[in-house]
Parts: sequence; structure tokens; C-alpha cells
Amino acid sequence: MVEADSVKGVTLTGGRKVEADHVILCTTPNAAARITPDEFVRPKAFLEDFHHTRLALAYFYLDRPIESAGVSFGIACPERRYFNLSINHTAMRPYLVPSGKAIISAWSAYPDASDLLAQSDEEVLARALDELKLFYPGLSSEWVEHSEVVRHDWAYARQAPGDCKRLLEFRDDACRHAGLSYANADYNLVSLESGVIMGKRAAQRAVQSLTELVSL
Ligand SMILES: Cc1cc2nc3c(=O)[nH]c(=O)nc-3n(C[C@H](O)[C@H](O)[C@H](O)COP(=O)(O)OP(=O)(O)OC[C@H]3O[C@@H](n4cnc5c(N)ncnc54)[C@H](O)[C@@H]3O)c2cc1C
Repeated sequence: MVEADSVKGVTLTGGRKVEADHVILCTTPNAAARITPDEFVRPKAFLEDFHHTRLALAYFYLDRPIESAGVSFGIACPERRYFNLSINHTAMRPYLVPSGKAIISAWSAYPDASDLLAQSDEEVLARALDELKLFYPGLSSEWVEHSEVVRHDWAYARQAPGDCKRLLEFRDDACRHAGLSYANADYNLVSLESGVIMGKRAAQRAVQSLTELVSL
């Protein structure tokens, strides 16, 4: 809900209106683009064209422990490979896997991650297991008790050339619109900590604008 270039609340799906002196949008940027008022032309255009990575991650639950450092990186050399990182979740968080049996995952990155999304779960799993054999010597399909593909339609921000400048401009633009703040990790860095930082900043802005309202 906008009055005189200032956000005055939100309209929920179904039409119910909720008045508010300050609204914080803490959705992913694509959802924030849909919710941002049309009047806020530049922030909305930026959010609608936000570069991000989509992921299809492969998880394997094995019938035995595997020793590894926890996080392993690989390179696409000399052959083309799709998965460049693996996590041994049992090594990373042993207290979450009392059996001690290994849970390992295969991770891809842009642009290879995009190609994987077009593939079926069976194809992703077959490719991942094959490539993980380089990470875990001796790994065999016979060790796999269970496997899953987890698809993230919006995983995290992808900084293309020029995006840092666009991001800083967006953050300046967004501050000019009264009553609205954005809080999502993707407007800063890709991490949980970044989400907390952006949330704190938005909360400070909201408190500041409410303090100004009270003192009027
Ligand atoms: C697979 C994966 C692994 C990661 N691993 C790590 C890690 O090990 N360490 C680390 O620091 N970071 C990690 N990250 C990054 C980290 O998870 C994110 O940066 C962080 O969770 C983002 O927090 P956020 O609150 O900004 O956004 P999110 O947690 O993405 O919250 C956005 C919320 O908006 C909601 N939403 C979407 N659309 C709408 C709508 N239309 N209306 C209402 N709500 C909506 C979503 O459901 C979601 O709850 C990982 C990310 C991924 C994808």
C-alpha cells in the first residue's frame, strides 16, 4: 500500500490490507520484485533482473563410514566435470548421525549447475555418484542405501560482472523510499551471517523511521 511515494502497509493474498508504518521485505529478491510497488521503478527493475544460481544437489546415504576432511573440492581437469565440491555431512556434524554411516553430497556451481537442472533425478544421481568416486576412493553404488536430489529454485545470489555496482545503487535507491526496507542475505553476501546483518540494518531503519514519526 503506497501513499505519496511512501509505503503504508501491505495487501495480503486474498485482499486483506494490513496497515504499517514500516514494512520489511525479507523474501528472496525474486519474490521481493513481485511485492515491490510499481512506483519504485529502479529497485523493482533491479530485483526483477537479479542474477542467482539454481541448484540440483545430490545426497547419498551410505552403509558405512568414510574418512574425509568434511569438505572436499575438485577441479574440472583434465575431463569435463559437473560437481566441484563434496561435503561429508557425517564428518562435519557427527552428532547428527549417531550411526556414523557417511552422508555425502555433491555440489555444482554456475554455469554447470544450470545444465544439471534440465536432467532427471536419476541422471543427476548417476553423474554425481560417478564423479564422487574421485573424491572418495573406492566409493561404489553398492554402498548406497538411499539417495535424494534436492533442487533449489533460488539457491543464492550470483555476482555477475557489474553486479556489485548495481547492488550498491539498489541499496541507495531503496533507502530513498519511506516505509520500506529490504532484508535478505543476497543483497550483501551469500551466508547466514549476511542475512543477519541485512536484517539488523533493516530493523535499525525501521526503528529510526518510527522514532521520527513519534517525534513529529
Ligand atoms: C544449499 C545451500 C547451502 C547453504 N549453506 C550455507 C552455509 O553452510 N553457511 C552459510 O553461512 N550460508 C549457507 N547458505 C546460504 C544461506 O543459507 C543464505 O544466505 C541464508 O539462509 C539467507 O537467509 P535470508 O533470511 O536472507 O533468506 P532466506 O532464508 O532465503 O529467507 C527468505 C524467505 O522468504 C520466503 N518467501 C519466498 N517467497 C515468499 C513470498 N512470496 N511471500 C512470503 N515469503 C516468501 C521463503 O520461504 C524464505 O523463508 C546456503 C544456501 C543454500 C541454498
